[in-house]
Amino acid sequence: MPKHSPSSLNPRAPLVLDTRDLPRRPGALRTHRRVVPAPADLGVELITVPVGADLDLDLRLESVSEGVLVSGTITGPVQGECGRCLREIDYSVAVNVQELYAYANSTTDDTTDEDEVGRMQDDLIDLEPALRDAVVLTLPTNPLCREDCPGLCPECGVHWDDLPADHSHQQTDPRWASLSQLNRTEE
Ligand SMILES: [Zn+2]
Ligand SMILES: [Zn+2]
Repeated sequence: MPKHSPSSLNPRAPLVLDTRDLPRRPGALRTHRRVVPAPADLGVELITVPVGADLDLDLRLESVSEGVLVSGTITGPVQGECGRCLREIDYSVAVNVQELYAYANSTTDDTTDEDEVGRMQDDLIDLEPALRDAVVLTLPTNPLCREDCPGLCPECGVHWDDLPADHSHQQTDPRWASLSQLNRTEE
């Protein structure tokens, strides 16, 4: 999406920050605390923030010479599946954001690579792209129900937790069973 598209942000959208009450004087500060509903598809393949879940924004908006620096923490629940055993995972994450949004008319264009800096649309900041980046960086691509989850027996699909220590399948040499267990882990 081009960064200079004309302002299409809705100031009432949950993840749009309105900076009109922030003086354009470097050093001026505002805090922004709000609980907003999570947008759709916030997360990675196996683990996401459920759409509509409460996102707790605890942000600081600071005027700097070329724009507004947004920093703080966003906390919300995530749900997913263990990559090894498919058990449900359900916990809460806190992601840190720190992003500079340049004024629409600032000269940052000439001095900064466009991709390095966000851009305000009039007095509005669209927080969603930065939030998505932060969440994707924070969430594990291969989430586990616990660090040492042993996964499922590749032969019968039963969780190793629920199987006796000497569990094996007649036709399978136990050494091969542990090898295929390894392969499974790497998927
Ligand atoms: Zn697991
Ligand atoms: Zn088995």
